[in-house]
Amino acid sequence: MFPNFDYVRPKSLQAAITHLSDEGAVVHAGGTDLLGCLREHIFAVKKVVSISAVRELHGIAEGTDGTLRIGSLTTLRTVAEHALLRKRFSGLAQAASEVASPQLRNQGTIGGNICQKPRCWYYRGDFNCLRKGGGTCFAVDGENQFHCIFGGGGTCFMVHPSDTAPCLVALNATARVAGPSGVRDVPLERFHVLPEVDVRRETVLEPREIVTEIRIPPPAAGTRSSYRKVRARRSWDFALAGVALALRFEGRRVVDSRVVFSGAAPVPWRSAEMEQAIRGKELNTEVIAAAAKAAVAGAEPLEKNGYKIPLFQGVIEEELTRMRASA
Ligand SMILES: Cc1cc2nc3c(=O)[nH]c(=O)nc-3n(C[C@H](O)[C@H](O)[C@H](O)COP(=O)(O)OP(=O)(O)OC[C@H]3O[C@@H](n4cnc5c(N)ncnc54)[C@H](O)[C@@H]3O)c2cc1C
Repeated sequence: MFPNFDYVRPKSLQAAITHLSDEGAVVHAGGTDLLGCLREHIFAVKKVVSISAVRELHGIAEGTDGTLRIGSLTTLRTVAEHALLRKRFSGLAQAASEVASPQLRNQGTIGGNICQKPRCWYYRGDFNCLRKGGGTCFAVDGENQFHCIFGGGGTCFMVHPSDTAPCLVALNATARVAGPSGVRDVPLERFHVLPEVDVRRETVLEPREIVTEIRIPPPAAGTRSSYRKVRARRSWDFALAGVALALRFEGRRVVDSRVVFSGAAPVPWRSAEMEQAIRGKELNTEVIAAAAKAAVAGAEPLEKNGYKIPLFQGVIEEELTRMRASA
């Protein structure tokens, strides 16, 4: 059952920020994640501030310098189908198209996608876990088959659930954030918070801040991006393992690389090891095998999620092989 809360739908960004000053106020974008959290009483709210009537948060536009600006209220369907995005940032369009189901992509927004709450079944269930202020991560000795293999840091072992965030990190995107003290730009790479830094928060957002847009710089010539996601079933599901690539080629050689995993860690997980293994090289069979090996070298699986190591290796090998074929 839903708790009681006030609901407002201001028309301006400033009014939305003012409403968020009230105790227990939260942002509501498409509501596909938030409403589930409220119904399940995952956290308490007193006021729901819908930002859907704030016009400036909608739409996609290209700046004169080639930077692409995606309003935070842009739906995942629009991101998946947008012609310029599909051409220049195909990895992001692909990731958006792999989120959930058509109904959820029609309603869910890109801002909500990067800010969504963890999907760990202990967090979502009736367990007072570390992230909810309790003293234990129940996944450590529990049902940890869907939990992280990197970045748990001995604290919380959830995996970050977003499909688009890893691509945005790979594309070197920035989140523009507005709050009571003005506007700031946060690189997506520093937007999410590791549990060892603060287990009670998922992002660097302060309570009264709103993501207004995502900015993606123009890609250097020869850059191609992709996203590959593996899930436990063919219908809607979160990533068991996923890899977002932004590779810059000169001829058949990879001269620059950004590699970010989903389903791997409590934040989108950038793999410096894999980036190094392919940078400056042609993607032949040996290089691809070495990259897949390097990618999982530092993994720390729990009792029931060791299968993710060969799964990641397989996904990486397949995706690099596909990239090589289309180079
Ligand atoms: C059945 C199901 C399957 C799903 N499968 C996937 C999946 O495969 N992959 C995936 O990535 N996601 C999945 N999701 C999660 C979710 O629906 C999507 O991520 C969606 O994009 C969330 O966007 P929204 O606009 O509905 O967010 P909301 O539900 O409105 O908000 C989500 C959270 O973000 C905050 N928030 C929203 N917008 C902003 C903003 N602009 N500034 C600051 N804070 C903000 C809200 O306060 C809330 O805490 C799934 C959800 C469901 C219910």
